[in-house]
Amino acid sequence: MLVVLSGPGGAGKGTIADALVAADAHLSLSRSWTTRSPRVDDAPDAYVFVDRGEFERHLEAGGFLEWNEFLGELYGTPVPEGEGDLLLEIDVSGGRQVAERFPDAMLVFVEAPDEGELRRRLVDRGDPPDRVEDRIVEARRERAAAAVLGYTTVVNDDLEQAVAEIAGLLASRRA
Ligand code: 5GP
Repeated sequence: MLVVLSGPGGAGKGTIADALVAADAHLSLSRSWTTRSPRVDDAPDAYVFVDRGEFERHLEAGGFLEWNEFLGELYGTPVPEGEGDLLLEIDVSGGRQVAERFPDAMLVFVEAPDEGELRRRLVDRGDPPDRVEDRIVEARRERAAAAVLGYTTVVNDDLEQAVAEIAGLLASRRA
């Protein structure tokens, strides 16, 4: 099964994804490719960082399950290899592509408790101010699109609780 985790940058998707995968032997994390530059808070293995040329060659060769341009940078999920359930931390546009190809995919939208908190988290992680505002506008757009696509929303106020909630959704899907 494919599990799609979407939500604004700063909502805590990455931390939630790591916690879910660490606690579940049958779930692994898909590592996306991106053309954006590494950020200070990125884990070294957060993405496969490539230039536009390399991304486009991989795309033309059919190497992506889905891909999207987000704020001027390309992001894509490589075609999965291996067994078990796969967790994709991707935007809602990617989630739409996955849902079209795999109607059984589980779609979860992770939210910060409110927009003020989202802004604070984005600033704290070192996004430049103009980028923060772009991401907030994008978050509003994504929230509306996710509702239409039938995403389940999980508010990340308390991390452990959010992780438990998603693990519960996954367990009931598998059952
Ligand atoms: P960030 O720059 O904050 O790491 O990611 C920006 C947005 O791109 C986030 O919403 C993130 O979930 C999304 N994203 C990351 N990887 C992929 C991917 O492979 N495909 C798509 N469609 N979106 C992605």
